[in-house]
Amino acid sequence: MALDGRVAIVTGGATGIGYAIARRFLHDGAKVVIADINERAGAEAARDLSEFGEARFVHANVAEKLDVHNLLASALDAFSDVDILVNNAGIVHKAGFLDLDVADFQRVLDINLKGAFLCGQAVAQHMVEKIRQGGSAGTIINMSSVNAEFALADQVGYSVSKGGLKQLTKVMALALAPYGIRVNAIGPGSIMTELLHAVANDPAARNTILSRTPLGRIGEPKEIASIAAFLASDDASYMTGQTVYADGGRLAL
Ligand code: NAD
Repeated sequence: MALDGRVAIVTGGATGIGYAIARRFLHDGAKVVIADINERAGAEAARDLSEFGEARFVHANVAEKLDVHNLLASALDAFSDVDILVNNAGIVHKAGFLDLDVADFQRVLDINLKGAFLCGQAVAQHMVEKIRQGGSAGTIINMSSVNAEFALADQVGYSVSKGGLKQLTKVMALALAPYGIRVNAIGPGSIMTELLHAVANDPAARNTILSRTPLGRIGEPKEIASIAAFLASDDASYMTGQTVYADGGRLAL
């Protein structure tokens, strides 16, 4: 199996896209640590996914440095290593630029962008140390969005954070390439999850999405998980610094 023996941390893995990635990684032979702020859903997810392999839940807020260090320590304690990190945790907040409260702007950036920086730095430091001691290189995946390419006027912090993640991916890829650590991002279009429901919960909003999606449907979390599985595997061994879009054709318009 493509990820046999690898250890992965998936942030925001209690639900939605992160859950689908955790499930796919387990299916592909990895051991998985689900890190999430939602204690109940996270514990349930790890329990449910245990039928596919070794899954653990660690309660962690990716925006808090101490939580991130505890997360890494717990993963090392459980599985002795970390080979794959998926920075998937993310939130949306709906407000236009003129009305946006700075605290809401900051909260979105803290979770979506600073969280990926904190987790990425902590895990990369572990990976570099391991390589210096003769170990093998790992890989990091950041969850960006099509909104890295086009802004949403009513989701200011979200659009900024996802654009930032595209650039953070390049910066991390450059810094870690000398160690053989690959860093890529995924840019989903509209995927059927709670997060999408929070911003498009009425038929009119859904129809607008569909009218801007050439494939004519909303995507499934597993259609993002399959891209994460590819990027995490050795099949993507010459890819780094890229954002791969899976958007039903949205960016082709
Ligand atoms: P979701 O709301 O189903 O899942 C997000 C998960 O992140 C939840 O389990 C939540 O508890 C967790 N989380 C939130 N804040 C956290 C924190 N501070 N620390 C740790 N965990 C935290 O949403 P989703 O649609 O599965 O989104 C996953 C990722 O995919 C996000 O980064 C999102 O921006 C991105 N994305 C989603 C879509 C879409 O249409 N659903 C499109 C593009 C990008």
